[in-house]
Amino acid sequence: SPSTGTSIFDELESQVRSYCRSWPATFTTAAGSTLQDEDGRSYLDFFAGAGALNYGHNHPVLLDALIDYLRSGGIVHALDMHTVPKREFLTTFRDRILVPRDLDYKVMFPGPTGTNSVESALKLARKVTGRQHILSFTNAFHGMTLGALSVTGNSMKRNGAGLPLTNSSKIPYDDYFSGATEDFLWLERVLSDSGSGVDKPAAIIVESVQGEGGLSAARPEWLRALSELCRAHGILLILDDVQAGCGRTGEFFSFEESGIVPDIVCLSKSISGFGLSMALTLIRPELDQWEPGEHNGTFRGQNTSFVTATAALNQFWADDAFAEGVRVRAAELHDGLTQIASGYDGAVVKGRGFLTGIKFPDASAASKIAAAAYERGLLVETSGPEDEVLKTMPALTISSDELRSGVDIIAAATAEVLG
Ligand code: PMP
Repeated sequence: SPSTGTSIFDELESQVRSYCRSWPATFTTAAGSTLQDEDGRSYLDFFAGAGALNYGHNHPVLLDALIDYLRSGGIVHALDMHTVPKREFLTTFRDRILVPRDLDYKVMFPGPTGTNSVESALKLARKVTGRQHILSFTNAFHGMTLGALSVTGNSMKRNGAGLPLTNSSKIPYDDYFSGATEDFLWLERVLSDSGSGVDKPAAIIVESVQGEGGLSAARPEWLRALSELCRAHGILLILDDVQAGCGRTGEFFSFEESGIVPDIVCLSKSISGFGLSMALTLIRPELDQWEPGEHNGTFRGQNTSFVTATAALNQFWADDAFAEGVRVRAAELHDGLTQIASGYDGAVVKGRGFLTGIKFPDASAASKIAAAAYERGLLVETSGPEDEVLKTMPALTISSDELRSGVDIIAAATAEVLG
């Protein structure tokens, strides 16, 4: 049985502001999709560092690249200086990701986290358009600093801070009215009507799949309608691919299936490939209107992250074989979850690719199932404003056998909780 967690962390509770999600074990080592705790117990990982570990823990090729670089005395912190790892990352990202997809973006390093990327995107959109207002979506998640939080559609996370700080409003995401927003007619109408009193926004920020907000996945036609609305009104479209990007949906960018080309793309989490912090903001070249130093920061461009990021792009994105395998195994996961959901009235499978889960009618079920799964050695999280969705987010490198084991544990945990 797993660790119950009487450890130094409990003793430190009064001094440390920390929490262990719902897993009281103290973890030590990890490889691929398996973690160990200090009592020698193993856990299967359906969490993957909240999406920062798309290639699993300690992938040997990435690990070797990192160790070789450090052993060679390679520079770690170089801020904005030119370095060989930075050059190699930029050329590899261009050749492996941008050129094959016919995408023309300038790459900027906004800071170490996804939130930094979102902040840079919001700032740039306001600067370039000269407008202030930003539209975002119900249940969106974009980060925890004041700007990113302002466009986050989760009241619990925002309320304490007395937001909104920025001029922003939320509009309904794709499935909010069961698809009725598809053509954005209502928004088109108020934006075209000079008497409507509705300010034209600088940007609309959107996730293709709402990773934190309950795994709603936008349909490609909805994204296309949104993109067309933005083009027609000179509104910049910011695609937050921090969680759904880097292959998680079975394509490098989550918006590829829809065919849209956002004006700005936010990437982080798995871009370093190894769980090291790194973020990118991709901007259409004509939007690069920053003055030097206008958006800077101390931790932009860690060379260790560049080294593992380059190794990951070379290892997994040299051709389409890896993405194809992800799509095949994501379908296996989807089938397994669908089978479980079919046994419970009103349970539905949500999400896309390897960012998928089950929403149960009883909002408290998912947390209980996650806790029961932990008891059986599976790390799995919840998503949604009420944590009502059991969220599976395995590493993209997970094997079919490991997937099957995890799904079996979820089936048993669900049966235990829901009877
Ligand atoms: N955008 C999205 C879509 C996210 O899922 C997250 C993190 N969960 C963020 C932004 C913020 O990223 P970070 O936690 O690295 O600041």
